[in-house]
Amino acid sequence: MIASSCSCLCLVVLLVVVLLASPSASYECFEPESALDITKLNICNDENNAYSKLTTGPQIGYIKNQATKNNAFELSFTCDPTMDKRTCNKARKAFIKAGALLSKIYKFPQKITVAAEFADLCGASGCPPDRTIIGQAGPSRFFSMKGSDGVVRLYPQILTKFANPPGPVPYATHDIIASFNSKLASRFFLPGDKHIKPDQVDFVAVIAHEFHHGLGLLSSWGPSGVNNVVTPFILSDDLNILRVREVVFDQFVIRTVEGRHLTDFTKDFEKAIDGTTFTTNEALASVIEDVANKNLIPTTSDYVTPDAIGFLPIGKTAITDAVILETTLVPFAEGSTGSHVDYKTYSTSPDWLMIFRAIRGKTFQQIDKDNGAATPDTIAGPHIKAIMESIGIPTPENPNPFVPTIVNEPPV
Ligand SMILES: [Zn+2]
Repeated sequence: MIASSCSCLCLVVLLVVVLLASPSASYECFEPESALDITKLNICNDENNAYSKLTTGPQIGYIKNQATKNNAFELSFTCDPTMDKRTCNKARKAFIKAGALLSKIYKFPQKITVAAEFADLCGASGCPPDRTIIGQAGPSRFFSMKGSDGVVRLYPQILTKFANPPGPVPYATHDIIASFNSKLASRFFLPGDKHIKPDQVDFVAVIAHEFHHGLGLLSSWGPSGVNNVVTPFILSDDLNILRVREVVFDQFVIRTVEGRHLTDFTKDFEKAIDGTTFTTNEALASVIEDVANKNLIPTTSDYVTPDAIGFLPIGKTAITDAVILETTLVPFAEGSTGSHVDYKTYSTSPDWLMIFRAIRGKTFQQIDKDNGAATPDTIAGPHIKAIMESIGIPTPENPNPFVPTIVNEPPV
């Protein structure tokens, strides 16, 4: 009798210790494999150092630029050691400038930390001439949170921070990871350069664009690999339990043909897949196909048909108010399709910043002027602002967006 009551007590103690040792384990968290592949998500691991997602890695020294009253972005920056110091310094200044521009447009309630590198992304063998990597930025982590419609979606780390969830949350060391190719330095117009060349892109604009992705302007919808079916993210945790997860942006995505929200279709995938155990690709493919056949899910065709998909900003109901998303690329271009505003509609408008292709031969001030932006450094037009306000970024005009709640409470 004594023995059994002791083992019971020991078990209770052990349980408490385990809970205390991993207080954050109950928050659902996913993270990209690297800064260059921000849509390939895995369950968060214990390595929360965002530098580990950069090609440079955590071992090298990073220069820190603190956030200021006029710039909410706190930058930790490292540069290709073979690059001259002047160019590295100009590249760093481009990050600071982009942060300052965005801090004028948006009313960030907290600082935003960025781990950034200007690094050789080509490697020893050099960049292939037909496919040169410019670079990319994205959220370092995503957390599951419940939005204004009660649906659980993935929120970029910075939007989770803005919501001030209770308890320790397993944040990565930085909110945004950004990686750009130093081997393309001559193709970038950098701060301090005199005249932009016809084949150059303004690096400040490139970074301002990528920061928007890092803040949450991106969609999870893409080809599932099953026939012509598109799905949101289908993610697996380390126990092979599947999750169907949109990102917060997707709450507002509609088919323009009838105005139906894509999130309605997500529910059908969730019912069939969420919480089940992954066995084989074939078994999962068969479930996806089955759901798609029964529920008239939008197909890849919607994503390769001009004007077919839009973003209906918060508070808007008319289809004509939708911001048209990029769906003209054939085939579906991972990272471009659905996660940018439509090139044809917006490349000559004040919303040019978030088209999928960078504009060459003009500085951002020239583009703003030519496209009729409110001021020469507005950089993000009204449609882009409406998208960001919808996903939860405060602006001076709309300082109090909806605050989502984190899904799982921390253990007590
Ligand atoms: Zn982009």
